[in-house]
Amino acid sequence: MADIIQLLPDHVANQIAAGEVVQRPASVVKELLENAIDANATTITLVIKDAGKTLVQVTDNGSGMSVTDARLSFERHATSKIKSAEDLFNLHTKGFRGEALASIAAIAHVELKTKTADSEIGTHLTIEGSKVISQDPAVVPKGTTISVKNLFYNIPARRNFLKSNPVESRHIIDEFHRVALAHPSVAFQMLHNGSDVFNLPSSNSRQRIVNIFGSKTNEKLVPVSEETEILKIEGFVLKPEFGKKSRGEQFFFVNDRFIKSPYLHHAVSSAFEGLMKNDVHPGYFLFLEVDTHSIDINIHPTKTEIKFDDEHSIYAMLRATVKHSLGQFNIAPVLDFERDKGFDMPYDYSKKSPTAPSIDVDRDFNPFREKPKQGNISFPFKREQAQSWESLYVGLKDGFGSARPPGRSSSGADMEMEFESEEVTGSLFETNEAETGQITFQLQNKYIVSPLKSGMMIIHQNLAHQRILYEELLKNITVKEAVSQQLLFPLQLHFSKPDVEIIEMIREQLEHTGFIFSELKDETIEISGIPVLIVESHVVNLLSQLVHDIKEEVPENDFSQNDMLAKSMAATMAIKTGVSLNREEREHLINQLFACKEPTVSPTNKPVFTTLDVNDLDKKFM
Ligand code: ADP
Ligand code: MG
Repeated sequence: MADIIQLLPDHVANQIAAGEVVQRPASVVKELLENAIDANATTITLVIKDAGKTLVQVTDNGSGMSVTDARLSFERHATSKIKSAEDLFNLHTKGFRGEALASIAAIAHVELKTKTADSEIGTHLTIEGSKVISQDPAVVPKGTTISVKNLFYNIPARRNFLKSNPVESRHIIDEFHRVALAHPSVAFQMLHNGSDVFNLPSSNSRQRIVNIFGSKTNEKLVPVSEETEILKIEGFVLKPEFGKKSRGEQFFFVNDRFIKSPYLHHAVSSAFEGLMKNDVHPGYFLFLEVDTHSIDINIHPTKTEIKFDDEHSIYAMLRATVKHSLGQFNIAPVLDFERDKGFDMPYDYSKKSPTAPSIDVDRDFNPFREKPKQGNISFPFKREQAQSWESLYVGLKDGFGSARPPGRSSSGADMEMEFESEEVTGSLFETNEAETGQITFQLQNKYIVSPLKSGMMIIHQNLAHQRILYEELLKNITVKEAVSQQLLFPLQLHFSKPDVEIIEMIREQLEHTGFIFSELKDETIEISGIPVLIVESHVVNLLSQLVHDIKEEVPENDFSQNDMLAKSMAATMAIKTGVSLNREEREHLINQLFACKEPTVSPTNKPVFTTLDVNDLDKKFM
């Protein structure tokens, strides 16, 4: 058989290597920022267009490159950072593989401008798909600017594989944070489509964290510091009460390199044991320093995983140090800090002896007398917090469901939202003309029970309302016809900078639901109009939940982004379990539910109702 093995041409090898190193625009951002750090820059500017799909540009005031180095830097395995294999275990630079620039140049249009301190004139080089197009002398300042345009222009499959701009921007911001946090003394700036996203002056670690995550972060930080022979730990953990349901702010740096380590994460989490609930994650910014000989960084192309020689000791020390810091700062265990205060026994009641519940029967009740009203029925919105203990009694006191705690009426003006009723055609329910008021009642302030021709239906009130709101919101977002209620006084809200960024990303969709933003800047959001479906006092809660959900599950494309938005908003806005509903409210909910396109399942795919057939019942009596 003839010989069939060939050496791949360089540009093909580079393209293959690029597949490992460059997954998305954020990978380019990471490599270029790290090169600037390795060049000892003190000021670094990142410029992005269209989430990096059109342009990623990094400018630094670092060492720059000579004419020859400029050309060589794009060769594969060309690096100034190591000379021998031993150097791999004595790394003080971010890069060392010498393949980032070669990989990037294989799959994009790249332009390099660079000059060293001691040369008069610099170099301007352009490369497309590994081919040098031009190389000229140029008058440029000391340092380096690399512009990467049209990423994956020659690999359409990869380009199409890129996610929506909000998703890709999110990844870029994550990489930017990681490098900026590891190097607080370096000044960083980031611009996206011409506007300032971050402007971080040279500072210390604490200030850098605060500059990135917002001024409120400062008071949440607990310092951590320890030094032993094999490990030095510096940094901060977030106080337990600021733990989040999502992963949130969790950063490990080893010798100034951001790394991912489920094992070390576990060490920190276990130090928080007893201080946080199980489903809450701690936040941390921890900077570890170890002997360069005791780790191996060369186990992953993106260099975000490392192998420690003595993982167990590091685990134990990390856990003990974090525990110690939490103890030192007097952070007492809070076993259940989300406990519903409504269940605390009011002082008055603690002195009273219990009385047996009594049932009042309304002897004048006549189902034939009044027809249910259609239109503009008020829905009480999230009253359960104030009344949860009272609602334990209501069903007993005033008869099924229609009961209401003393002093609270369903038309309390402050906590309501208004629903337009919809025409409902066809009915599953018994339609005796005289009895249009369907007999419904509420079970445990959670389920609505209604008779059917064939038996009965049990509806989960929260899930049903989620379904109704979800369809309404999704329609508003896609059809773009929502109505706003103007606020008399604009609402000023404060979020961290990255959170404001996220809201900026979904601004358009939020506006379609009825929000009007008069300002979205730095850490401030000013809102002058809100959707008619919600009340002002719930806006903060709603936006925080939304940001949380987006961080948890970065939506893939515009369609799923709209879907997620509607789901998240519906979940926050829907009537909760524990809220008692009066007859009109129950009926209105049922009518709206069955006017939905998909009444059977909730937006998160749980069944909304179940039915019980008379035949099934009959069997129980045999
Ligand atoms: P590595 O960083 O692993 O060495 P790269 O492909 O990222 O590989 O870069 C190749 C070489 O180009 C580097 O070793 C460095 O000498 C040079 N270089 C890259 N970026 C810069 C920069 N911003 N300033 C100065 N030199 C740079
Ligand atoms: Mg590099």
